[in-house]
Amino acid sequence: MARQFFVGGNFKLNPATLSAKDSLIDSLNKADLDPSAEVVIAPPALYLLPVLSSVRKDIKVAAQNCYFKESGAFTGEISPKQLVDAGIPYVILGHSERRTLFHETSALVATKTRAAIDAGLKVILCIGETLEQREAGKTAEVCEEQLKAVVDVTKDADWSKIVIAYEPVWAIGTGKVATSAQAQQAHADVRAYLAKVVSPAVANSVQILYGGSVTAANCKELATQQDVDGFLVGGASLKPEFADIINARK
Ligand code: PGA
Repeated sequence: MARQFFVGGNFKLNPATLSAKDSLIDSLNKADLDPSAEVVIAPPALYLLPVLSSVRKDIKVAAQNCYFKESGAFTGEISPKQLVDAGIPYVILGHSERRTLFHETSALVATKTRAAIDAGLKVILCIGETLEQREAGKTAEVCEEQLKAVVDVTKDADWSKIVIAYEPVWAIGTGKVATSAQAQQAHADVRAYLAKVVSPAVANSVQILYGGSVTAANCKELATQQDVDGFLVGGASLKPEFADIINARK
């Protein structure tokens, strides 16, 4: 079965005001979007509920992070159970900004992934190498290490709840997009790894998104690649061109 095209918008710590959030959602609500694409937007936690109630129903909502505990003395955290109860279907986990700035290890990301799936969330699981790791020829190895932690705590069936986002750290927010050949190679390597350690069926069905400086100008060529099943978009998801990225295959 063909994998559905998937575009995520990671708003990060944006926009800065409620009114800017309203106009962003308003323009998405008016956009002409490819109905065959699955679209998920991830606003800051404070805006999750207002976005859920104001965004069109064919756009789904994701949290940008969650904790692995259900409740308790964990100041500042949100639980997977709270997200599910609030009607939020997705969570982004393992984003490189969380790994780097907030010191999240692959083991913690895996624990969160397990808890999120157990609570009933779908997970957009981010992986990717730094420039230094790429230049050392370690791209596949780094992605495999990050995935292995999740492979170790999941069963085959759990992978229908996971979308992988390959996001090379050197491409995130830098304006330096991976070439379509670089993206295709990394995605094919991820699929080959999953075929080996999980199953060929999972490797074939899991959606693998590319993320890192995706724009309206570069998305079409990336979207032609066999193993690129969509995008996780940061900066451009805050602009009108997000609609063009969603429509990359239209
Ligand atoms: P970018 O971010 O599109 O601004 O490079 C992508 C991401 O961090 O998911």
